[in-house]
Amino acid sequence: MKLYEYQGKELFKQYDISVPDGKVVEEENGLEDVKIPFPWVMKAQVLVGGRGKAGGIKFVENMHEAKKAFHELMGMEIKGNKVKKILVEEALEITEEYYISIILDRSKRSYLLMFSQEGGVDIESVADEKILKIYVNPLIGIQDYQLRKLKNREIAKIAKKLYKLFKEKDCELVEINPLVVANGKVMAADSKIIIDDGALYRHEELPKVEEEFTELEREAREKGIAFVQLGGNIGVIANGAGLTMATLDALNEYGGKGGVFLDLGGTDDPEKVKQAFELMKKANPKVIFLNLFGGITKCDTVAKGVKAVLDKEGIECPVVARIKGMNEEEAMEILKGAVITIPSFHEAAKKASELGV
Ligand code: GDP
Ligand code: MN
Repeated sequence: MKLYEYQGKELFKQYDISVPDGKVVEEENGLEDVKIPFPWVMKAQVLVGGRGKAGGIKFVENMHEAKKAFHELMGMEIKGNKVKKILVEEALEITEEYYISIILDRSKRSYLLMFSQEGGVDIESVADEKILKIYVNPLIGIQDYQLRKLKNREIAKIAKKLYKLFKEKDCELVEINPLVVANGKVMAADSKIIIDDGALYRHEELPKVEEEFTELEREAREKGIAFVQLGGNIGVIANGAGLTMATLDALNEYGGKGGVFLDLGGTDDPEKVKQAFELMKKANPKVIFLNLFGGITKCDTVAKGVKAVLDKEGIECPVVARIKGMNEEEAMEILKGAVITIPSFHEAAKKASELGV
């Protein structure tokens, strides 16, 4: 579960990490209750990154500007997420910006604390040698000798508090980007926190944050279909999370990019497949890659559902199908001529990638 910036900052306060003075506002009237002297910084609250670049942060000098900024921000959609809350804060006079985060590094069986002097930008764009990496043994926790590698004692103290928060709240990620120096004080100007969903049951104290969904994702959820919209052009329909993920990886290998994926899971109802396929059509992919391994979900069940849509309303984009398993011959027979069938997973992924560029 992701927390909003303002919720993350509430947690920081509880752990004695300084944050700017701020107040969340949902209605224009609420601005009148903000008892912070101008200038303000007004920050759209969304669960996706890159908000600053998308225009979701505004600096204002007076109430007139604040009201204008309020309406601009409230009307915004950032990567498909509507802005419903704005965090109003004292604008800081920032003299330095750093990056600090703690994540769970599964491959190293450790926590990883990262620190960089180049804050305020995506950590992915910072050269690797400019990032200090400290691996923390989860059984013994962060050690003082490790903290001494950090820039100064002030930051070491913050790292220690952040680690405490990370552990106690069962986080997958805590990130402060930027951690700033303003008026000689080190403060968290932003927050990003992800809580391990598997541990939520023991954190009654945390706010419940509903994930944001696109309209199609919401429609899919109502119909009980696992459907996720990503950035690319290829619509992937597969059955089972494992095969779906492997399919996205295979596309990636051939330069394709999965745009939407839909996991049929275990269904034996052609009507359900039909609904799923209709949803996929609405997402407007350049190509649909149907990758099936029939078992509980029989290949011919899926083929019937797909064929029903194709017969009734047709489709504008090509459909590449790789069909294996239970009743594959029947499925191939049903779909003959209607879709491009390719028996090899890799050949099919390659073809779909080419068509999806
Ligand atoms: P993000 O783009 O969603 O990560 O939003 P951030 O909260 O990290 O803000 C982006 C950038 O805006 C920061 O790196 C700062 O440079 C700037 N910024 C944010 N708050 C303030 C502030 O109070 N004062 C000033 N001068 N700059 C700010
Ligand atoms: Mn940030």
